[in-house]
Parts: sequence; structure tokens; C-alpha cells
Amino acid sequence: MTATPAWPPQSAPRLHVETLLGDGVVVPVDGNPAHYLISVMRVKPDDIVLLFDGRSGEWAARARDIRKRDLVLECVAQTKPPEHVPDFWLCCAPIRKGRIDLIAEKACELGVARLQPVLTRRAVVDRLNFDRLHAHLVEAAEQCGRTALPELAEMTKLDTLLRDWQPGRHLFFADETGGAPLEATLRAHPGPAAFLVGPEGGFDPAERDAIRATSGAVPVSLGPRILRAETAAIAATAAWMAINGDWN
Ligand code: SAH
Repeated sequence: MTATPAWPPQSAPRLHVETLLGDGVVVPVDGNPAHYLISVMRVKPDDIVLLFDGRSGEWAARARDIRKRDLVLECVAQTKPPEHVPDFWLCCAPIRKGRIDLIAEKACELGVARLQPVLTRRAVVDRLNFDRLHAHLVEAAEQCGRTALPELAEMTKLDTLLRDWQPGRHLFFADETGGAPLEATLRAHPGPAAFLVGPEGGFDPAERDAIRATSGAVPVSLGPRILRAETAAIAATAAWMAINGDWN
């Protein structure tokens, strides 16, 4: 007896698209994604490509009308329902290119719902390339099997973030000067959450006071060593996901 080949094939390329997907929906693809499918993945007529739009789960689509620079994908079956993303935001100060890219990639893989850049006084970088960060989120989602993209929020000033904070969401604050032990504190505070991590230079004392005075803020320690900002952001997210997220 021959084994039935897996469907959709495990080797099927995975692509994020803007088109709202559904049964029979036809998605024209050109530009870089078409180049990736046609020249890199060597997609042939009738091959399956997995698509997700961030809202409609994942769909298997059949390739057709393949030309040099474009092709058409037609949705034939839903392969995953829309996913439930844990209600967790990662709020982090902008840091140097490369390191912030790493945060975006890992935040997406680890399961965050929203990445919120926060401008603080000691930030070395005060601008973000929104499109580049968004591209990193998309690429990570394509690779890790997510069907929902993390939301990439506009950069906000720390003062504004704190002023508008809704107390129904815990604001875990990674405080390198001391904070409550992480595991017990996370266990004692289930529910919607965010982690706030500072820039290379840390928070200044006035910022630390303002954060601590915010309703919902909970200072926590990430251990006895001073972590780089990107390590702190990734480690904090992993810890929250393991204790209060969807890793159980
Ligand atoms: N330059 C600062 C360190 C900044 S580390 C100093 O020398 O004090 C960047 C950010 O990572 C910090 O603002 C904090 O949010 C987080 N962080 C790093 N290590 C941490 C720790 N051990 N506990 C809690 N937060 C930490």
C-alpha cells in the first residue's frame, strides 16, 4: 500500500497577501512575491501555495497563469482557521537597526499580538523604518506558520503611553534596578498584558518613577545580569508566553 502524500505538501511555499481570502478567491501576484514563487521556489501550474491575509486563517491556493513576472493563485481549501493570538503587547524602545529587526522577528515567532515602539529619553535611535519592521514581521509570520500578523503600532512617547494606559492591562516593566521576581509575579497577574523594555541606555530615574506611578504597572526583574535591550525583550516575551500565554 502506498502512503497517501501529505496535503497540502509540507514543502508548499507560504505567503502573506493583502487580498481578503475565501473559497474560490483569485489572488494575482506580482513583484517580489512573484519572483520568490516563480524563480526561487520554482512553482509550476497546479502547485499549491499556502496563503494567509492576517484575518481569514490559512488557505491552500493553486497556481495558474504563470508568466515571467506574475502568476495567479486560486484558493481551493482552508487549511487553518483564524488563530487566537494571546493578548500580549511588547512595548520597547527603538534600538539600532539589526537589533530592533531581531526583536520584530522574534516577537512575531513568540506570538505577540502587538509590537509598540516607545520613545524614551535615553533612546539612541529616535526614528524607525516602519516598512522595514513590517517586512520583518511578515517574513517571520510566513516562516513560523502564524496566520495573524502582529500589529505594528506607530511609535509613541513614553509619557503618552503612560497617560493613556488602560488599567485593565498589566504593564510589566522590565526594571534593571530591581523589581519583583518574574515567575511568581507573572503567575499572580493573568490576563491582558504588556511588557515594557527600555533602550540601550535604560530608563532615566524620572521615567522609572512615572512608570511605577501608572495604574497597572508591575516592576519585574529579569534576573541578576544586565541584559541587552533585545535580549530583555525576547526573554520577557518568552517568559510571559510560557506562563500566561499559549505555550501550555
Ligand atoms: N544601560 C543600562 C541597561 C539597559 S538594558 C544600565 O546599565 O543600567 C536595556 C533594558 O533592558 C532596560 O531598560 C530594562 O528594561 C531591560 N533589562 C535589562 N536587564 C534587565 C534585568 N536584569 N531586569 C529587568 N530588566 C532588564
